[in-house]
Amino acid sequence: MSAVDELRQLPDAEVLTDEPMSRHTSFRVGGPADILVIPHSIPAVCGSVQLAAEHSLRLQVIGEGTNLLVRDGGLRGVVLKIADDLATARVRGDCIEAEAGATLRGIARLAASASLTDLEFAGSIPGTVGGAAMMNAGAFGGEIGGLIAEVETVDPEGHLHRRPRGELSFAYRDSSLRRSGEIVVKVILQLRRGERERIEARMAEIQQERQAKQPLSRPSAGSVFRRPENDYAGRLIEAAGLKGARIGGAQVSEKHAGFIVNRGDATAADILSLIDHVRDTVAERTGVRLELEVCIIGED
Ligand SMILES: Cc1cc2nc3c(=O)[nH]c(=O)nc-3n(C[C@H](O)[C@H](O)[C@H](O)COP(=O)(O)OP(=O)(O)OC[C@H]3O[C@@H](n4cnc5c(N)ncnc54)[C@H](O)[C@@H]3O)c2cc1C
Repeated sequence: MSAVDELRQLPDAEVLTDEPMSRHTSFRVGGPADILVIPHSIPAVCGSVQLAAEHSLRLQVIGEGTNLLVRDGGLRGVVLKIADDLATARVRGDCIEAEAGATLRGIARLAASASLTDLEFAGSIPGTVGGAAMMNAGAFGGEIGGLIAEVETVDPEGHLHRRPRGELSFAYRDSSLRRSGEIVVKVILQLRRGERERIEARMAEIQQERQAKQPLSRPSAGSVFRRPENDYAGRLIEAAGLKGARIGGAQVSEKHAGFIVNRGDATAADILSLIDHVRDTVAERTGVRLELEVCIIGED
C-alpha cells in the first residue's frame, strides 16, 4: 500500500496531497507539500511519524507557519501540521497544560482568566505553543523557555517521551528541542498567581504597542533576523537605507525595517532575494552579518 493510503487509514488524521504551503504560512508563499497530514490526536502524530519512517519519507513539522519561509518548489515527503486540531489546553493548579497546537494567544488568555501571571508577553505573539517552545519565542522581556516545566515529545521512530525541565535548555530563539529532532506534542507551563485585571491590562498595553510599531496588516513572518549583539536588526537595516526596499512583491516594511512583508503577489524567491540583498548591504555598510530568525525550508 502507498504511504498516502496508509496515512489515510489512521483514525485521527486528515491527509491532503499536493497542498500549497502558501495556505499554511503567514507569509502566504510556498510551493506544494507532497503530503500534508493534520493529526487530531497524539497517537495520530505517533502513527504518522512511524509511517513516514517505514516509507523512508522526509518529515517536516509545522505549527501555524508564522516563522517559516517555504521555497516555491515546496516540500517533498510528509509535512505534519500540528495546529488547531490538536489544541486542547487547561489550567491545572498554577500550571497550563496545552497540546502543542494550542495558540500562544489562546493560552495567554486562558492564563489571564485564571489569574495566572508571566505569560502576558505571549498574548500577541502569533503561532502555536509547540512552535514557540521550539523557537523559545519571546517578546517584551519574556521568553517561553523560562516557563516550561515539562514537554511531551515524539521521537523520529514515533515513540512518546516526557521531558522534564532538567532535560531541556533554552537560549535566545533557540532550544535543545531544535537539535533533538523530536516533535513537541504537549507543553506544561509553570506560572504564578497574579491579579487578573493587571494581567489583562498589561496584555492590552503590549498589543497596542505592537499595533503601533509592527506592520500587522500585511503577511509576514515577524522579525526576519535575529537581534545582533547590542543592537537591533531593524535599526541597522534602516541605517543602511533599506526601509521600503522592494524586490518583486517583497518589501522591507516601511513601518518596521526588521520585517519583510508580502505586498500580495510575492513569491518565496522574491523574499529570499530581498533577504540576501539586505544581508549583503548591511554587512557592507555596517560590518554586521545579520543571522536569520525565520526558518527557511523546502526546494527551489
Ligand atoms: C506578525 C508576527 C509577529 C511575531 N512576533 C514574534 C515575537 O514577538 N517573538 C517571537 O519569538 N516570535 C515572533 N513571531 C514569530 C512566530 O510567531 C513564533 O516564532 C512562533 O512561536 C512560531 O510558532 P508556529 O506555530 O507558527 O511555528 P512554525 O512557524 O510553524 O514553525 C517554526 C519552527 O518550529 C518548528 N515547529 C513548529 N511546531 C512544532 C512542534 N509541535 N514540534 C516541533 N517543532 C515544531 C518548525 O519545524 C519550525 O522549525 C512573529 C511572527 C509574526 C508573523
